[in-house]
Amino acid sequence: MALATTENTTASLSRVEDTQNQHFGPAVALSCRECGARYDLGPSFACIECFGPLEIAYDFGRVTREQIAEGPANIWRYRSLLPVPADVASKPNMEPGWTRLVNAGNLARELGMRSLHVKDDSGNPTHSFKDRVVAIAVEAARNFGFHTLSCSSTGNLAGAAAAAAARAGLDACVFIPADLEEAKIVMASVYGGRLIGIEGTYDDVNRFCSELIGDELGEKWGFVNVNLRPYYAEGSKTLAYEIAEQLGWRVPDQIVVPVASGSQLTKIDKGFKELIELGLVEDRPYKIFAAQAEGCSPVSAAYKAGHDVIRPVKPDTIAKSLAIGNPADGPYVLDIARRTGGAVEDVTDPEIVDAIRLLARTEGIFAETAGGVTVGVLRKLVAAGRLDPEAETVVLNTGDGLKTLDAVAAEARPTAVIRPSLDAFRAAIA
Ligand SMILES: *Cc1c(COP(=O)(O)O)cnc(C)c1O
Repeated sequence: MALATTENTTASLSRVEDTQNQHFGPAVALSCRECGARYDLGPSFACIECFGPLEIAYDFGRVTREQIAEGPANIWRYRSLLPVPADVASKPNMEPGWTRLVNAGNLARELGMRSLHVKDDSGNPTHSFKDRVVAIAVEAARNFGFHTLSCSSTGNLAGAAAAAAARAGLDACVFIPADLEEAKIVMASVYGGRLIGIEGTYDDVNRFCSELIGDELGEKWGFVNVNLRPYYAEGSKTLAYEIAEQLGWRVPDQIVVPVASGSQLTKIDKGFKELIELGLVEDRPYKIFAAQAEGCSPVSAAYKAGHDVIRPVKPDTIAKSLAIGNPADGPYVLDIARRTGGAVEDVTDPEIVDAIRLLARTEGIFAETAGGVTVGVLRKLVAAGRLDPEAETVVLNTGDGLKTLDAVAAEARPTAVIRPSLDAFRAAIA
């Protein structure tokens, strides 16, 4: 792949626009998050100058609330803010997004808060937030002529990528740690592609995929979270857009976001910033709180120690979808939490289980372990007085509890098993 730095920025950018704009909509270039070097849009993810991560640079035209509201009830209503062509909605895809924003009054009362919403991304087609990011990556794969869709996954991404590949008519070969929850293994395999279990952690899977991409075996594949990562990551912005639009075009005061690699959190921040810059919402400050499981909390540990450098850990937690021991976007998460006045916090496995049950009991929402992490951290931060109970708050549930049944199965049993007789029932409930 040719990575040409653009010496003469203006000239080469207009060239990029002429030839590629129809494929990538408002996206005009890749730019390095560290040194700002710009590159043509391509299947690249690291700066050749400084090895920093690349992200999409845009030239947004005029975007209005009305224009967005006329769009479909899925992420493509925001296509004018994403690296996708204008006709993207007409192509076979999973149509993720526009999930419900639940006014969680019962949970708010329980926690002593005034205004709390749950953004419930379990409602996506494969029951996690990953359908958003995969949808953008599939468009990039199509544009670059990749016929095989691949990824290294903590579980949800593998299912989302396999499903999207099936729908888009691409081959899939996805990689997961072999010891994942049964539901995630079944979901990643049922869509017909190849599913490879790797003996090791997610970080081992990810290292393996980096090696594979450098080999002739994988060099023509679209790895949604490796060589397509700049495109993939943009999908998370749609969470920020939807939350703001569903609140009546307002950025919430506080939001609690789970952290695995940290990509989602950094892009939610980017999404809010874009809405403010485009004048679609009022320019008000917001705080972003990052949530991890104690058994895999490298970012939280760095935050508490006041460090900028994140020391990798070996994960050991029931929140397997968040079990990334060496998070690529960890330093950016630290930065955003500090800059916005938020925080990074973690909760133990028992606290995760309690939080899953609390959310289910108060709001009728059954979250996967990642949702237990965000609600658990919310509860902990409110109790400690570190999150303002009077301010408008949104907490993310990024996956469906049916994917992580084991987390609560031991305590979720029938109250009693009886013969079908009134006497037996009376005795059982006595
Ligand atoms: C992947 C995932 C996340 C967040 O992932 P990042 O790597 O931080 O973007 C959150 N929740 C669930 C359920 C996930 O599968």
